[in-house]
Order: sequence, then structure tokens, then C-alpha cells
Amino acid sequence: MSGLDAETLFERIIGGEIPADVVYQDESTFAFRDIRPQARVHVLVVPRKRYRNLGELAAADPGLLADVALAARKVAEIEGILESGYRVVFNTDEDAGQTVFHVHAHVLGGEPLGLFGA
Ligand code: IMP
Repeated sequence: MSGLDAETLFERIIGGEIPADVVYQDESTFAFRDIRPQARVHVLVVPRKRYRNLGELAAADPGLLADVALAARKVAEIEGILESGYRVVFNTDEDAGQTVFHVHAHVLGGEPLGLFGA
């Protein structure tokens, strides 16, 4: 894969090349509002280092996966939904609808969420 092919949308957002509504960031993660929110709160948490999906991240860098989980909790705290609850989703590959191949957690909440498949 060439360097250009390897650069995803999220690397451009993290690099500041594409503007984003940033909610939280730290040394290893970057969190910003989804451009097409599926709930009142819909924030994407992205590890700065790129892995394709959750499985690759977990296998290669479990510490970074923990950082993503903690950043998701931090986002929930910032958004005031830590007590009411929130959902964390990692879409993986085509059937799940993954469109950006730089692993990211969707943090959803701020209202009662439907059950899967309902
Ligand atoms: P996926 O479908 O799990 O890969 O999630 C990709 C998400 O990125 C989708 O929910 C999109 O709405 C979101 N998205 C695409 N482009 C942008 C953008 O420029 N800013 C913020 N979110 C974006």
C-alpha cells in the first residue's frame, strides 16, 4: 500500500487538515462528533495510531485498546451521559458497514437507544 493510499480520512482529521468538532484528545486518542449523528450524542474515538479494526488493534496493542475504552468513558463524562449510560460500537468490515478503515469507537447516547435488530 502506498503512503497516499494508507492515509484515511481520520488521519487527515487528526492532523488538522480536515476540521472536526473535537470533544476530547490525549496522547494516544482523538475524539470528535460524527458528522451524521445517529443519536443525540454521537462521538467517534480514534486511536492516533492506525489499525484497521478492533481485532487488529486488540491483537497488536491491547494497551491502546484500553486507552480507547477510557477515552470513550471520558467522552461520556464530558457529554454528561456517564450516569444515564452509553453504547460503544466498533463496526468491523463490510457487512457491519465499516466505511473508514482506521479503527474507531462510536460512542452513542443522550437518549434511550433502540435494541439491536428492533
Ligand atoms: P464506520 O461506518 O463505522 O466506518 O463509521 C464512520 C463514521 O464516520 C460514520 O458514522 C460517518 O458519519 C463518520 N464520518 C464520515 N466523515 C466524517 C467527517 O468528516 N467528520 C466526522 N465524521 C465523519
